[in-house]
Amino acid sequence: MTKTDHTPLLQLRDVRKQYSIRTGLGLGEPLTVTAVSRVSLTLRQGETLGLVGESGCGKSTLARLILGLEKPTSGDIHYRGGRLDEWRRLDLRRRMQMIFQDPFASLNPRQKIGDIVEEGPLIHHMGSRKERKEAVLQLLGMVGLSPEYANRYPHEFSGGQRQRVAIARALALHPELVVCDEPVSALDVSIQAQVLELLADMRKRFDLTYLFISHDLSVVGHVCERAAVMYLGSLVEEGPTESMFADPLHPYTKALLAAAPIPDPDAARRRAKLSGDPPSPIDPPGGCPFHPRCNQAFEPCSRVAPQLAERAPGRRTACHLYDPEHQATLATTAAKETL
Ligand code: ADP
Ligand code: MG
Repeated sequence: MTKTDHTPLLQLRDVRKQYSIRTGLGLGEPLTVTAVSRVSLTLRQGETLGLVGESGCGKSTLARLILGLEKPTSGDIHYRGGRLDEWRRLDLRRRMQMIFQDPFASLNPRQKIGDIVEEGPLIHHMGSRKERKEAVLQLLGMVGLSPEYANRYPHEFSGGQRQRVAIARALALHPELVVCDEPVSALDVSIQAQVLELLADMRKRFDLTYLFISHDLSVVGHVCERAAVMYLGSLVEEGPTESMFADPLHPYTKALLAAAPIPDPDAARRRAKLSGDPPSPIDPPGGCPFHPRCNQAFEPCSRVAPQLAERAPGRRTACHLYDPEHQATLATTAAKETL
């Protein structure tokens, strides 16, 4: 069984991140990209929370904010009840670790595997040299790599093996939170399941909390107890994966599920097709960010941004379809359509 104990480990309140960019020759006024737009989210101790959404919706930006690698433009992030920016940097670096999508880019090609795994403990002065070397060999064994590999270089390994090294490196510091950003997206399908299984084993063994980022809903359904769905920088739905997958609330979640290769007995869900690309975060649509692509949009959607609110036990969504304030309009619209 999992050890989720409902204590909030990480809390995001109204977190927004904007970037200024210059296009073309860099002349003229800079443009503003809103990569993350007012996200509120809680990660509980011991859980695996999935963060899903199409490419460019702000998942990696949110990950960098959580890890303290970048500062939010507004809003705040609390870790273990304390403001993230008040934690000592080195302390956070130990407590939070990250596993990246591309194990080719994330491992230094000039470092031996053993040194890669030992680097964190060395920086944090953990144990004696002998103890560290022993711990490295033990970790390599745990992630399914032969201890002899400690003296080899990353180029000698396959993508799946490199991801195992990245996992060993992350675990070497005994972290509390591991942010996995598309950890299997770059791997062959046949290898993905093995790496996911390893991540699940390590979570149990070390009592870890995961933020698991993926554009692939079926992967999230396999490994996460809870999921948050992101669209154009905003959360549109959040709740337990089981009930969300069985009965998605937000039209965007429905569309994502319709496109995912998951057995689907629900015909209504199949009708909800997603066409076109998400709009640009430089000039996002007013009202609900999803309304231009939504097949259930009605009067308030282009005008008012819906708030994320609990609409079923333990389940939150940001959609006017469930907003009591707009039920009357919805009924009138539906009546007109049937005439
Ligand atoms: P995802 O990980 O979901 O694919 P990202 O968080 O990488 O999305 O990006 C979200 C949006 O923010 C994209 O439009 C991206 O181009 C933009 N973005 C991310 N980082 C920067 C940056 N440093 N400067 C400007 N724009 C950025
Ligand atoms: Mg990303």
